[in-house]
Amino acid sequence: MSPFTPDACMLFLSVILFSAVIGAYCTTIDHRIRKDLPLITKDCFCPFCGCRIAVTDQIPVISWLLLRGRCRSCKTRIPLRYPLIEGSFILFYSAAFLAFHSRPLFCVGLWYLFVTAFLFFRSEKHFRSLRKGLALMYVYHLIYAAVLLAILAALDTASR
Ligand SMILES: [Zn+2]
Repeated sequence: MSPFTPDACMLFLSVILFSAVIGAYCTTIDHRIRKDLPLITKDCFCPFCGCRIAVTDQIPVISWLLLRGRCRSCKTRIPLRYPLIEGSFILFYSAAFLAFHSRPLFCVGLWYLFVTAFLFFRSEKHFRSLRKGLALMYVYHLIYAAVLLAILAALDTASR
């Protein structure tokens, strides 16, 4: 697959979106693992004032910039590590995809290793919750791998 076709660009965009969502979710479950909180909740809450965070304030990196690094409700400073973690996920996932897009399962494996390393180094002392977090991430990566393989198969068929 040539890297500059519209199909390849859309696929790359989906990788960026997936990595941004995973990166943002990792900053959330990292906190929840260490506090032994439920990993899946309907809403997201500010860890400082407890207010519900609107969906529009949860856009990876962009929301942090638009809010100038402060909670919309209590104005508490949101640590810089949040957009940095989100950005590093986007960079790593994108670079791995550019390097290994012809071997998508290997690529997904690299992504999962990245998530595992991140969550392990942040939350190794909370092993029970960490296991749940890693299992959850495994499921998300498996689902995206299935989607990725289906898209690549469809593109392969269409190009013949
Ligand atoms: Zn707040």
